[in-house]
Amino acid sequence: MTTALPPSTDIIVVGGGNAAFCAALAAAEQGVSVLLLERAPEEEAGGNSRFTAGAFRCVYNGVEDLRALMPDLTDEEVAKSDFGTYTEEKFFDDMGRVTEYRTDPDLCEVLIKNSKATMLWMRDKGVRFMPIWGRQAYKIGGMFKFWGGLTVEAVGGGPGLVEALTKIARKNKVTIAYGARAIGLIADDDGVKGVRVKHDGRTVEVKAKGVILAAGGFQANTEMRTRYLGPGWELAKIRGTRFNTGDAINMALEIGAMPTGNWSGGHAVAWDRNAPEFGDLTVGDNFQKHSYPWGIMINANGERFLDEGSDFRNYTYAKNGRVILMQPKQFCYQVFDNKIIPMLRDEYRIKRVTKVRANTLEDLCAKLEDVNAEKALATIKEYNKAVMTEVPFDPNVKDGRGTRGLAIPKSNWANTIDQPPFEAYAVTCGLTFTFGGLKIDTSARVMDTEGAAIPGLYATGELVGGIFYFNYPGGTGLMNGAVFGRIAGNSAGELAAQSP
Ligand SMILES: Cc1cc2nc3c(=O)[nH]c(=O)nc-3n(C[C@H](O)[C@H](O)[C@H](O)COP(=O)(O)OP(=O)(O)OC[C@H]3O[C@@H](n4cnc5c(N)ncnc54)[C@H](O)[C@@H]3O)c2cc1C
Repeated sequence: MTTALPPSTDIIVVGGGNAAFCAALAAAEQGVSVLLLERAPEEEAGGNSRFTAGAFRCVYNGVEDLRALMPDLTDEEVAKSDFGTYTEEKFFDDMGRVTEYRTDPDLCEVLIKNSKATMLWMRDKGVRFMPIWGRQAYKIGGMFKFWGGLTVEAVGGGPGLVEALTKIARKNKVTIAYGARAIGLIADDDGVKGVRVKHDGRTVEVKAKGVILAAGGFQANTEMRTRYLGPGWELAKIRGTRFNTGDAINMALEIGAMPTGNWSGGHAVAWDRNAPEFGDLTVGDNFQKHSYPWGIMINANGERFLDEGSDFRNYTYAKNGRVILMQPKQFCYQVFDNKIIPMLRDEYRIKRVTKVRANTLEDLCAKLEDVNAEKALATIKEYNKAVMTEVPFDPNVKDGRGTRGLAIPKSNWANTIDQPPFEAYAVTCGLTFTFGGLKIDTSARVMDTEGAAIPGLYATGELVGGIFYFNYPGGTGLMNGAVFGRIAGNSAGELAAQSP
């Protein structure tokens, strides 16, 4: 059923993902009317947020913080888990290190310092969370030991998160219009006054006291990603929604908003070579192939090209997609032997996977499509000889079990590839989201190119620039959208509640 658009409302939120819903809920708390415009039809709604595993990177100082967030945790579950801590200091260190200290210090501080409170706020609204037993913990001596600072996920993953937020938004009287594409901002010298919307084949204007942009990055726009990320990026696959084509970024730039951040950068991972052009909701994030730290990656020339074990997966996966895209024919194979195959993440066992299997290394290399088999075999043999087998393998820590004497070293988790059967998985680059976007201040107000806030305009989520550069600590995208969504909703809602 189509929702008729009102001629005016207090607050318009553009977008229908996690950032948009958090903004809409915070605005609704101020007692103002909120209209959420989602470009996608209802069946495909929810943006990239719906494609996620629902993992949130948030501060917790111990198990009591986690119990507060997840009251369903039983004593038995707590007893068998070593959650450790993820303090503000650790979060700062991670953001600094992976962004090479370019992250906007003010925005980064707001993100980190509000992460715990925002999660509790979401829980109070009715979103349920649980520990990520499956992907972020290893069982050692009967205990689940969590690693990499990423401990919490929404129940039901991304689909569960979007479903919960949608229900909660409706309960809080947010009006949701699907198939409603914002195409321009109504603005004059006094600021933003509303949005032009393409809805049901008609262009209409909806007036508002405040507009919050939460319509994602420009990754699904082939022209923009090639223009900004550079040559070759038109050949990348898009991991998530086809609807994030940079509309809201462009709408804001048109009225003088300030672009900022890593416009040539994006979050890009190893993704099945034969995955479709855009994400597929029935597969979700399972085209990703994230067990490469335990194996090696070989390109079309039959050569390794990066240190697969330089750091935990959480801190390398988001930058490796770019390196894979730059390889000949834009792909590589991830190679494992029988010692590691049982440890591979679930995503390696889905039906739609591009994989070869063999009982000898010679046969395996011969089966690697588009790869120089002779060189691949030589590479594996040379690698096997270089592994420091005297250092014990331990997936829970950076074990220092590296290689000796290779031009491209492997720093941790180096295992010989010598126990049949052998498996190799073909992956290309899957682009998740783009890093460049709009400049906001710590109240989520969009800044103009003169450095002043544009009255009535706010932004949150993927389309905000300045937070991520080069790389990204896993689980920060949802947290970022939630923190600044809540702030944007509060700022815009308060203002709307006060104005006549
Ligand atoms: C496969 C995959 C797995 C991921 N896993 C995780 C994870 O576990 N944890 C994590 O933190 N991050 C993860 N991410 C990243 C995460 O998805 C994003 O950082 C986050 O969801 C961005 O939220 P958002 O609300 O800004 O954008 P989105 O959720 O993408 O929402 C943008 C919305 O805007 C709508 N829209 C676009 N244009 C218009 C327009 N003109 N008018 C109206 N609406 C418009 C879109 O339809 C969409 O609903 C993953 C991403 C992918 C693709």
